[in-house]
Amino acid sequence: MSEFFDRLKRAAKAAASEWKPSRYKIANIQVVCPHCGNDTFAEGTALLNSSGMSFIGLDWANALAITLSCTKCSRIQWFHSTEHETGA
Ligand SMILES: [Zn+2]
Repeated sequence: MSEFFDRLKRAAKAAASEWKPSRYKIANIQVVCPHCGNDTFAEGTALLNSSGMSFIGLDWANALAITLSCTKCSRIQWFHSTEHETGA
């Protein structure tokens, strides 16, 4: 267990230089973590056309999703890639 967190910390440290948490607005609404209420996220992307998504009927998307990972509790929220704004 502790070994896992040590590795996680090392990975976070290694990525720190290229990783900046930001606040996001989707559909003109500030994104807030529903779990812990934090408002800064690390942005990532994921393809929606995986076989898993096809299985649940989302293969129409065949597109990119934005994933916002909470910087406090690490909960991930998914948004279909449309325009989104980042604020300071
Ligand atoms: Zn959170």
